[in-house]
Amino acid sequence: MLGLGGMGSATLCHLARRGLRVLGLERFDLVHEYGSSHGLTRIIRLAYWEHPTYVALLRRAYELWRELEGLAGERLLHITGSVDAGPEGGAIFEGALRSSQLHGLAHEVMDGAELHRRFPGYRLPKQFRCLFQPEGGFLLPERCDIAHVEQALARGAEVRCREPVTEWGAVNGRVWVRTARGRYEAGRLVICAGPWASKLVRELDGLAVAERQVLAWLQPTRPEYFRPSAFPVFNLEVEEGRYYGFPSFLMPGFKFGKYHHRGENVDPDTMRREPQPEDEELLRAFARRYFPDGAGPTLMLKTCLFTNSPDRHFILDQHPAHPEVVVAAGFSGHGYKFCSVIGEVMADLVQGRDGHDIGFFRLGRFRQ
Ligand SMILES: Cc1cc2nc3c(=O)[nH]c(=O)nc-3n(C[C@H](O)[C@H](O)[C@H](O)COP(=O)(O)OP(=O)(O)OC[C@H]3O[C@@H](n4cnc5c(N)ncnc54)[C@H](O)[C@@H]3O)c2cc1C
Repeated sequence: MLGLGGMGSATLCHLARRGLRVLGLERFDLVHEYGSSHGLTRIIRLAYWEHPTYVALLRRAYELWRELEGLAGERLLHITGSVDAGPEGGAIFEGALRSSQLHGLAHEVMDGAELHRRFPGYRLPKQFRCLFQPEGGFLLPERCDIAHVEQALARGAEVRCREPVTEWGAVNGRVWVRTARGRYEAGRLVICAGPWASKLVRELDGLAVAERQVLAWLQPTRPEYFRPSAFPVFNLEVEEGRYYGFPSFLMPGFKFGKYHHRGENVDPDTMRREPQPEDEELLRAFARRYFPDGAGPTLMLKTCLFTNSPDRHFILDQHPAHPEVVVAAGFSGHGYKFCSVIGEVMADLVQGRDGHDIGFFRLGRFRQ
């Protein structure tokens, strides 16, 4: 198992729960701020505007997150409802509506004025179309990663952190990896390297591209509007672009970000980690306009990385030349909510089972 971020920790857990002997290798600490899975909260939502195909996986993801909560004895998933909103005909609202109708999801449609009456923190244009889905909410990614690893350790998995994999190969149906500390052999290798994927799998060059993102937490002037009980998570399409956001949780701040922030493709080893004044101003301008009661002093800014595939859909597959190596990559800024089920999908790929229909996510689609 290479990489113990969101996807790797979940895969480690599923493999160990199936009774396999498994080793997890991570180049940084268990939970760190250099990849894609930090920042206290991640949205989970069922009304999937990106594509209705995801809804079946999402239902299983919810089930598995609940199961993990039971095993860990802690709350990892908080339900607030979700809002998908934008102008009439916009991709976010129309896609969420299509997914909701196709899959019979509970939902309500309202305009921006009604949304403000229900959830006063929101000040969207009155004519906006807004879909509220009651099962949306957020996960606690750092706690989820740790819970997955704890469950794996309890079933005999081994974990080595601060041990980067520098090279791997496959010979005669077996795999080997070289790390900064040694060499290991195994029957299978799972690569969940997030923004580093294309550095480890040459075939992903141009198909899993790291992009710098920035998250903001601003102190609300009306904190009561931004509590989890009063503020659903959101995906919004406005004239400035697409944004997502959360209620205050674990920080006294309204948290949000802009999808594909400033369009900066980067090398994760050399990127500018420190948020800049331009990053802050871009985000503050959005909050001033659409969430004015949430736009008080800045409390925290963090950089993070998306790993984009060309069509923004996930890549889940065997390595094209080495079937004993399986790869999960290209989560394109919307993968975290799926970690629990991706762990199961990857374990199926390792064992040659076809428990989920993942045809939509195969690497071969880019060759056509
Ligand atoms: C700002 C931001 C907001 C987001 N918001 C949401 C959201 O609200 N909802 C949602 O569903 N998704 C969201 N996402 C996307 C989601 O967080 C990612 O899709 C998901 O975290 C990807 O997980 P991963 O395991 O692929 O990557 P990571 O968690 O980065 O894990 C990859 C791991 O591999 C390790 N690694 C890399 N190379 C090596 C090596 N050579 N040797 C050993 N280890 C190695 C890395 O150190 C890292 O720990 C967001 C992403 C960002 C950046």
